[in-house]
Amino acid sequence: MTALDTADIRRQFPALSRKIYGHELIYLDNTATTQTPSPVIDAIRDGYLDSKANVHRGVHTLSQEATARQEATRELVARYLGADDSAEVIFTRGTTESINLVASSYGALMNEGDEIVLTVMEHHSNIVPWQLIAERRGLKIRVVGMDDRGVLDLDAFRSMLNERTRIVAVTHVSNVLGTVNPVAEMIAEAHKAGAAVLVDGAQAIAHTKVDVKALDADFYAFSSHKMYGPCGIGVLYGRRELLEKMPPYQGGGEMIKTVSFGGTVFADLPFKFEAGTPDFVGIAALAKAVEWLEATGVERIAAHEEQLLEYTTERMAEIEGMRIFGTAPGKSAIISFLIGNAHSYDTGLLLDKLGIAVRTGHHCAQPLMERLGVSGTVRASMAAYNTFEEADAFIGALRRIAPMLA
Ligand code: PLP
Repeated sequence: MTALDTADIRRQFPALSRKIYGHELIYLDNTATTQTPSPVIDAIRDGYLDSKANVHRGVHTLSQEATARQEATRELVARYLGADDSAEVIFTRGTTESINLVASSYGALMNEGDEIVLTVMEHHSNIVPWQLIAERRGLKIRVVGMDDRGVLDLDAFRSMLNERTRIVAVTHVSNVLGTVNPVAEMIAEAHKAGAAVLVDGAQAIAHTKVDVKALDADFYAFSSHKMYGPCGIGVLYGRRELLEKMPPYQGGGEMIKTVSFGGTVFADLPFKFEAGTPDFVGIAALAKAVEWLEATGVERIAAHEEQLLEYTTERMAEIEGMRIFGTAPGKSAIISFLIGNAHSYDTGLLLDKLGIAVRTGHHCAQPLMERLGVSGTVRASMAAYNTFEEADAFIGALRRIAPMLA
């Protein structure tokens, strides 16, 4: 496997040439959103410039072209995920909407006393939709804990599975700790108990090759904006036999075959779950992000990020007062930390003054913060375009600010 040519990659990301307070931008907030390469930006611009037309609506040329672009993206995403059938790929607004769709629609098939299994390291997007449906239908939520490294307690997980368990919803990669959860193993265990599994792939999709068939996932959710694609687009992969049984999530145009006041017949998959006009420009641009990932090679990106992670973590650990949260073996390139008892915002603001963008706060994972005994952390996360020079500059900045915060 050849190493990534980061100089060439960086040239494709216009935003990386920004200066912040006179410093070259060092963008280490990739977990929140990745920057966007030129082919994706060009596709968005072209979509508005000369070929904007609604999809699945018109016989005219522009509409036919727009529909073809959208459906080609669906085919591409299905192939990228290893799905059998493009009808199993539903376009949404993001991971959050994908999970809400499953919670609301699959949840409608659950009965009072049925159980949902979550983990302590879930993003709020994979907690609150389940709480809403649990409240409505009298369901019980059980939560798998973890050890101090950020490794899930699989014995506890196994012991929670029973004949009332209807779904397990688990993140593939923790957005705070970087832990890569053993989702294939968890899916196999859940299936033995007769439960379905939703994998929140928001933090995995740009960093690891995902094959929904190899995982045997029932649902896999992710956001385009975290994989070098446009904002406001998400994907839900769902196993056909489950999607067929589920009622629609939202009603409106596009998701019907016929409508009358005597009764409405819903469209076939995937349109049953795609009410209203989608962001067809964004969906077409997502294809460019998938092509960019394929051409760059997600395995090569992962290997590069792993080296950066190791290099950075080793040097961070030498800094007086450094507390790193999340030390699971094989973790993804996400480093959560605090310097002594300094507030995460203070660290983040000082880093910003040096041109370094990191995330601060609870990262939409308050139950995990409670487990860690902190109100928030600083989070640095890497992507394909980050370099060892940037890692050195980040370490240098931390060395400089640590004594100020002690
Ligand atoms: N799940 C995880 C693990 C995330 O990290 C995020 C976003 O940070 C989400 C879900 C929600 O993604 P979005 O806001 O794009 O819907």
